[in-house]
Amino acid sequence: MKIQNIEIIIKIGDITDENVDVIVNAANNSLLGGGGVDGAIHKRAGASVLEQCKKHGGCATGDAKITTAGNLLCKYIIHTVGPIYGRHGGLESLLLYNCYINSLKLADEYSLKTISFSAISTGVYGYPVEETLPIIYKAIKDFSAKNNNIQEIRFVLFDKEKYKLYNSYFNAILDKN
Ligand code: ADP
Repeated sequence: MKIQNIEIIIKIGDITDENVDVIVNAANNSLLGGGGVDGAIHKRAGASVLEQCKKHGGCATGDAKITTAGNLLCKYIIHTVGPIYGRHGGLESLLLYNCYINSLKLADEYSLKTISFSAISTGVYGYPVEETLPIIYKAIKDFSAKNNNIQEIRFVLFDKEKYKLYNSYFNAILDKN
C-alpha cells in the first residue's frame, strides 16, 4: 500500500533485525537506554551508540536525535521520545505526532530512503495502539507533501495483535483515499 509515493509495509518482527537505512527507537528523555525496544536496540548496537546518545545530552518528548547504528544492520538509529499516555495534560496526541513527523524529517534530511518504526509509546508508556494509528497516518500524510527522499516506511510490530490493528487500520483508510 502507498501514501503518496511512499510504500507502506506492516510486518511482525524484531526491529533490531531490520536491514533498512534507519530504524526509529522508542527512547526515553535521558537517551541512556532503558527497557523494551530501547533496551533491545542498545544491547545489539553496542557502546558506540550509547556514546553518541550521551553527546546528544538527552531528548525532549516529541523530538528526535540521530546516531549511527553500531553493530546493527541498518545505517542509522533515530531516537525519539514518545509521550507517556495521560501524563501530558492533553498534549499526548500532538507529542506523538511530533515523534513521527520529526523522525521522518530527520531521516529525509540525511537523504535516507527506507525507515522502520517501532510502535512508539505503546509499551511501557501505555498509549493504546488504536489511538496512535490516526496520529501516525496524519503525520505521514503531512510529511509526504514535503518529502524528498523517503521511499519506504515500515512498521515493525513485535506481536500479532498490534500487527492486526495496524493492518486493518491502514487497509481501511487507504482504500477510502
Ligand atoms: P514505550 O516506552 O515508548 O512505550 P516500549 O519499548 O515499552 O516503548 O514499547 C514500544 C513498542 O515496542 C511495544 O509495542 C513493544 O511491544 C515493542 N517492542 C519491544 N521490543 C521490540 C523489538 N525488539 N522490536 C520491535 N518492537 C519491539
